[in-house]
Amino acid sequence: MSPEPAALSLPAPALIADAVTVAYGGRKALDDCSFAVPAGSVTALVGRNGAGKTTLLRAAAGLLRPDRGTVTVLSGPPGDGVLARIGFLAQNSPLYSQLTVAQTLHLGARLNPGWDGPYARDLAEAATLPLAARVGTLAPGVRARLALIMALGKRPDLLLLDEPLAALDPVARAESVTALMGAAAGGATVVLSTHAVADLAGVCDHVVVLDRGRVRAAVEVDAALAGHRLVNGAAADLAALDGADVIELRRAGDGFTALVRVRESVPAGTLAWHTPNLEDLVLGYLRGRDTSA
Ligand code: ATP
Repeated sequence: MSPEPAALSLPAPALIADAVTVAYGGRKALDDCSFAVPAGSVTALVGRNGAGKTTLLRAAAGLLRPDRGTVTVLSGPPGDGVLARIGFLAQNSPLYSQLTVAQTLHLGARLNPGWDGPYARDLAEAATLPLAARVGTLAPGVRARLALIMALGKRPDLLLLDEPLAALDPVARAESVTALMGAAAGGATVVLSTHAVADLAGVCDHVVVLDRGRVRAAVEVDAALAGHRLVNGAAADLAALDGADVIELRRAGDGFTALVRVRESVPAGTLAWHTPNLEDLVLGYLRGRDTSA
């Protein structure tokens, strides 16, 4: 008799938002948000200013409690029970200005039981951080790199990073993205908010698009790219899009460009259909009209 096949079990998502609503003084910053972040993924949280990205990350880090709905991180409620397994980087790199870089790294070792000193030192060396300099004297980009290293050095299972790339020059961005990929390769789940979508092409495998507090799209990147097309044509050909699932339509002069969701095959006709890149996809969802509301 052949043995029973082993049951395939997928790991639980690292983060689940279920109908999460957060309001500040009656104004909703998050409105009925639901999505799941697969364990081991690099997930980008994108949206215009004020879309609710920081609010969502703070809820996941246990720093605020939703008015409605639930957030689950690493299979439990956010808060004390999972804090040691989460690396949270708040916006604007909060660090102690009076400490030197070396003292800051030392503090990381003192405060975090899972601190990986050699790894943090390697990252600091690769970033050429001036160990003897006081944090308060560092340029914003250097400070941002130190803050990211403080989150990575914990060797957390889940990294929640609020705009970790914002203050960085292109080289520092590329190096930090490499460090994030290294963390993901080591098994961590990375969730980062960013406006630098182009920098994440080939890095993030999932994207959550937030629009005025609502989840506009929560997708696996490769499937979403394969499932959408950018269409260019002359305004006279617009009728060819009748019945298509148009996410965004832009007219320029006598022509138009549209982001269209395709289900099975690209419709026949004279229009030029191109596979979008990640930035096309995200911009299309950010600029397109939300017809789901
Ligand atoms: P950005 O890209 O500019 O950082 P964001 O997507 O992170 O924006 P949030 O900071 O989460 O957005 O803000 C969402 C909404 O909630 C905005 O309208 C913001 O003004 C509001 N908001 C955020 N924090 C507070 C607060 N402490 N009190 C009142 N309103 C707030």
